[in-house]
Amino acid sequence: MSWVTFEVRTARRAQMVNITEQVAEAVKSSGVKDGTCHVFIPHTTAGVTINEGADPDVAADVESHLAELVPKEAAFDHEEGNSDAHIKTILVGPSCVAPVRGGKLTLGTWQAIFLCEWDGPRTRHVEVAVSRL
Ligand code: ZN
Repeated sequence: MSWVTFEVRTARRAQMVNITEQVAEAVKSSGVKDGTCHVFIPHTTAGVTINEGADPDVAADVESHLAELVPKEAAFDHEEGNSDAHIKTILVGPSCVAPVRGGKLTLGTWQAIFLCEWDGPRTRHVEVAVSRL
């Protein structure tokens, strides 16, 4: 098992940031040939997902559609004023898993790993654990 932690500085309140290269580097540095790569986000208003990375319009559409689905200004009780960010984080989830084959992170042709920022801009931490099969 190999652990790597890295930071991501986000630039907007809601922003899907492609972190595939950093995760692939963590996999490479682990030395694991065949196994699994777990990505975990230790935050309550940012998550992670795997989706299309080829067309940036997809991430932009997800950001704008989730903003419509979970409006910032709604009848929430949470006094911090960021319940929309908590709910969007629940929707995308705090972790994802991808296969490692031949020493490389193995994603589908159009797939990328995104840190999903919902209450930025902030500095976020990403935990990557690479395990042998
Ligand atoms: Zn909060």
